Amino acid sequence: MEYIADTERYGKMKYRRCGNTGLFLPIISLGLWQNFGKETSIEIQKQKLHKAFDLGITHFDLANNYGLPANGSAEENFGKILKDGFGKYRDEMVISTKAGFPMWDGPYGDWGSRKYLISSLDQSLKRMRLDYVDIFYHHRPDPGTPLEETMTALADIVRQGKALYIGISNYEEIETKKSIEILSELKVPCLVNQIRYNFIERWPEEDLFDILGSSGVGCICYSPLAQGLLTNKYLSEIPEDSRAARTGTSIAERYFNDKNMLIVKNLNEVAVARGQSLAQMALSWVLRKDEITSVLIGASKVIQIEDNVSILNHLDFTEDEIDTIENILKTDDDI
Ligand code: NDP
Repeated sequence: MEYIADTERYGKMKYRRCGNTGLFLPIISLGLWQNFGKETSIEIQKQKLHKAFDLGITHFDLANNYGLPANGSAEENFGKILKDGFGKYRDEMVISTKAGFPMWDGPYGDWGSRKYLISSLDQSLKRMRLDYVDIFYHHRPDPGTPLEETMTALADIVRQGKALYIGISNYEEIETKKSIEILSELKVPCLVNQIRYNFIERWPEEDLFDILGSSGVGCICYSPLAQGLLTNKYLSEIPEDSRAARTGTSIAERYFNDKNMLIVKNLNEVAVARGQSLAQMALSWVLRKDEITSVLIGASKVIQIEDNVSILNHLDFTEDEIDTIENILKTDDDI
C-alpha cells in the first residue's frame, strides 16, 4: 500500500535551530548505523522510517560504511525505500551521510583526502539514488591530511551542489576550532559537529559545547543511550533480541563493566521516580543543554521510536533530579 505521511506529524515534534544557521532539526533524529543493513528485513526498516517520519522526525543520518555486515548496505536500503514511495517527501527531509572510516581497499578509501571524500560522496549518492544530500560530514579527523585539504574538499562539494551543508564528526576542541575558521574563510560555514555524548561519556562538557555555542555551530549527539546500555533492558540479563546479543557489535566491549551496571541500576530508580523509562530520561538529559540541536538515536523496533519521541512531554528536570544524577555519575571506578 502506498505510504502517505501523517498530516499531524509536525505537531508531534519539536525543532531546534542548528547553531545560528537557517536549518531546523528535530530534537530527535534517526540514525541508520545498525538495524538498517543486511541483518534486518527491508520491510521492518521501512516501517521504522515511516513511523519516524509520521512522528515528525525529518532527519535521517547515514554514512558510507553503515549497514551490518556490509558497508554501504544501509544507504542502498534507504535508497530503495525512498524509491518505494518515501521519496515523495524528499524536500521535507534532511538526509546526511559521511566519509572518513575505511570504505574500500587501497590508499583512496579511508581518512580525509580530497580524493576519498569526493569519490565516496559520489558513491553514496548513487546508492541512495539522490542528486544531493543535505549534510555531508567528514566522519573523523585525519591526522595525516592537512585540515585545509579536507575542508576545501567539503566546501567544493557544497559549491558543486552535492551537499547543502557541511558537518564534522568526532572532532575534538582544537580540530573543531580550526575547521570552523577554515570553513568560515571559505565562505561555507560549518553547520554542525556530531559527537558521542551520554550519561557516561561526557568529554564534550569540558570545552566543546562552549566552542560550538559561541561559534554558532550546531551539535548532534550520537549514542545518547550508549548503544542501549542506558535503558532498563540489561538490568538482569542480555536479551536475545538485543544489540549485545548480536555478533559484530561493540556495545559489550565498550560499556559492560561493574561500574556502568551500577550506574544504570541507580539511574533507573531516578527515571522510575520521574515517571519515565531510563531511555527516555537519558535522551531528555542530553537535550537539557541549549547547545545541543538533536539527539541521534538508533532503533531495532518501531516501538522504540515511539517510546523515545514521547519524551517531548517530559524534557524538564528539577534541580534535585540533576543533583541526584550527578552523584550517581560520580560512582568510583573501583567499586
Ligand atoms: P543509541 O545510543 O540510541 O542506541 C540505539 C540502540 O538502543 C537501539 O538499537 C536499541 O538497541 C536501543 N534502544 C533505542 N531506543 C530504545 C528504547 N526506547 N528502549 C529500549 N532500547 C532502546 O544510538 P546508536 O549507538 O545506535 O547511534 C545512533 C546513531 O548515531 C547511529 O545510527 C548513527 O547514525 C550515529 N552514530 C554516529 C557515529 C559517528 O561516528 N558519527 C558513531 C555511532 C553512531 P537494541 O538493538 O538492543 O534493541
